[in-house]
Amino acid sequence: MDDQERGIRQTIIDLCLEMNANGLNQGTSGNISFRHGERMLITPTATPYEQLTPEMIVSMPLAGDGSHWEGPIAPSVEWRFHREILLRRPDMNAVVHAHATFCTVIAITRRAIPACHYMVAAFGGNDVKCSGYARYGTAELSVLALEALEGRTACLLANHGMIAMGETLDKAMWRAVELETLAKQYYYSLQLPGGPAILSDAEIDETLRGFGSYGLLPDPA
Ligand SMILES: [Zn+2]
Repeated sequence: MDDQERGIRQTIIDLCLEMNANGLNQGTSGNISFRHGERMLITPTATPYEQLTPEMIVSMPLAGDGSHWEGPIAPSVEWRFHREILLRRPDMNAVVHAHATFCTVIAITRRAIPACHYMVAAFGGNDVKCSGYARYGTAELSVLALEALEGRTACLLANHGMIAMGETLDKAMWRAVELETLAKQYYYSLQLPGGPAILSDAEIDETLRGFGSYGLLPDPA
């Protein structure tokens, strides 16, 4: 591997450590992938992040049946939806998956996060959808995840967790953290009498225009 690829692999490891440090994830349930040419770089299965070295990040062709991966350890069991997202979403280059607590709490109730805060627009529209349920690691889950991601840059996975995407690894992680914050705010607002007031489509459209394409704030405010 050249220096550039080594740098990407190290960034993946750094972000894995970051998502455990900031509470987005615990243990090794989260996984991160990045488009590198015609291949995908992805975290290996069930390996404590503290033990990861750049050589342990798995390289897998985006084409094919997924059996021709390279590395000392098999890829994350969720390699299918990572690969399908990178194949079907050429606008996105990085995928973060985690069982973030508040996202997962909402996903357990199988509801979308509505426009309860203007930051919902950071995910491309007026809600963040929750996918249907399929067992982890299955091709069926990939299909359901892609459905929930249509027109969006993140989704919840029913009874499982969340997915956030980005043009870069840093943007994917930024969205993952913002999504967990939004899920937490929505969860707490549900506890209060009357529940959340939901912003109108016009109000979200106005926010989207302010954010620019894909709802990424140039300077989060
Ligand atoms: Zn998972």
